[in-house]
Amino acid sequence: MKVKIKSWTMAAYWTWDVKEDDLCGICHNAYDACCPQCSMPGDDCSLVWGQCSHVFHLHCIEQWLASQTNGGTCPMDRKTWSTVSAAT
Ligand SMILES: [Zn+2]
Ligand SMILES: [Zn+2]
Ligand SMILES: [Zn+2]
Repeated sequence: MKVKIKSWTMAAYWTWDVKEDDLCGICHNAYDACCPQCSMPGDDCSLVWGQCSHVFHLHCIEQWLASQTNGGTCPMDRKTWSTVSAAT
């Protein structure tokens, strides 16, 4: 189930501590927020798990892999990226 939020005033309501582990390693947005390419939380911005156990927004890793010239590697550890599973 997804929640549509009409106005996203992150600075005002972002009170809980965001652990670094909860942030996408590419865009540094929280996993439960959407990536910068999506206009608002609740857009179809799913997460993908890689074989190296890192998690990114689908759009972030897609863009990252598209920018790679020597095959896809994880931006965190430079291991060959292999998607294990995706969730919405
Ligand atoms: Zn991201
Ligand atoms: Zn997105
Ligand atoms: Zn990794």
